[in-house]
Amino acid sequence: MPDSGKSDPSNPGPPPGEEEKITLEDALLELYRLRAMCDVSRAVAGTLDLDRLLNLIVAKTTDIMNADRSSLFLIDWDTEELWSKVAQGVRFMEIRFPMHLGLAGAVATTGETLNIPDAYEDERFNREFDKRTGYRTRSVLAVPMNNKAGERIGIMQVLNKKGDEEFTQEDEEILKSLAGQAAITVENSQLYEEQKKSFISFVETLATAMDARDPITAGHSKRVTDYSVAIAEELEYSEKQLEILNAAALMHDIGKIGVPEVVLFKDGKLDDEEYKIIQSHARHTLNILDKIHFDREKKEIPMMAASHHERIDGEGYPLGLSGEEIPEAGRILAIGDIFDAITSRRHYRDRMEFIRVMRVIDEESSSHIQLDFVEAFKHLPVSRIIMIMEQDNVEPVESEDLELFKKFTLNDLQELLERGDREESLTQDEQHLVDRFNFYYHRSISEGWVPD
Ligand code: FE
Repeated sequence: MPDSGKSDPSNPGPPPGEEEKITLEDALLELYRLRAMCDVSRAVAGTLDLDRLLNLIVAKTTDIMNADRSSLFLIDWDTEELWSKVAQGVRFMEIRFPMHLGLAGAVATTGETLNIPDAYEDERFNREFDKRTGYRTRSVLAVPMNNKAGERIGIMQVLNKKGDEEFTQEDEEILKSLAGQAAITVENSQLYEEQKKSFISFVETLATAMDARDPITAGHSKRVTDYSVAIAEELEYSEKQLEILNAAALMHDIGKIGVPEVVLFKDGKLDDEEYKIIQSHARHTLNILDKIHFDREKKEIPMMAASHHERIDGEGYPLGLSGEEIPEAGRILAIGDIFDAITSRRHYRDRMEFIRVMRVIDEESSSHIQLDFVEAFKHLPVSRIIMIMEQDNVEPVESEDLELFKKFTLNDLQELLERGDREESLTQDEQHLVDRFNFYYHRSISEGWVPD
């Protein structure tokens, strides 16, 4: 037996009356364990990224348990397998094996805690892993992970307690508590992921339904969304804010469902009455989205989506809000909406000359749309704009051109176009950029189709 200094028979323990004394070393160790457990609790409460969290829990568990390594396996009841993406010492990858295998399998199947001083003495132990890696497993402590409903969802195990010691009763209690935290983590994050997925698919379904009804503006919702998200990124929106803006943008024209087709698809000029009916789509967007339950952080979505036709000067619709009364997302959407409307192709005409597009945007700044957001928009690289603009084209933008477009902002491009318009000379590089841009801008949507 290795000399740990604590089991020396000539030293039978502390003299009577001093049993309660603990050494400084013990106290520090205890404090360390406590802090590590607090770290785990804080991480569990603070984030929902499952892979990262489980990795953190496993790493902290090794520390807290004073063990050599730890692992966490989740049970896949459909395939009756144990799987993991977090196994220390063997990198970050997915491991799967039948759930009846090994000591981990025994815990997964029976739900009992196993505390074994030497794994090689236990016939349930599977030596395969040790054989392949050259590792020597000795002490093993493995506990089940149960969810709130009491169902077994995984197991946690720690291997080889440091100093060749065995895992104690206290270790068992601590590992059970850590396994409880891990189970909460898994359950929360799975619920969150499910919720997020169903929200996104719901929003996308609405947008698709809308586009299916109106093939003329098909793709409009998606492009407006992409322009708006690009502007918001320029304004340094957080991931969460971008997600909310993205949803509001995809649904901004949902109210067109409430506009009769005879008006929506009318060829030729609309009379005042028809124009009012078209405009009513913004109010329909508000009314429709107001009926949907959004959680607290998303509850502004209906107002964001419905305010894309409001104007900074208060002359917009449906509510006639002005300036900062308009939700910020609505003010961003307005830019994407106008830009897409005037750069879209129609079957009866080519796109508006890009120099005119940018002049329209400038003319609308401060009265209709917010100047500093327009500036953020113009700060975007031409590559970003062209990719959004051409997202439905079967022929991709060549990578060489894309590299060129990355070097110039929309603002740069506008300046070059204005200089060209004043017949000032451009350098060869500048002229090349303008030519390549115009090539993509004016090519037909079906360019690249080879008719047979
Ligand atoms: Fe609209």
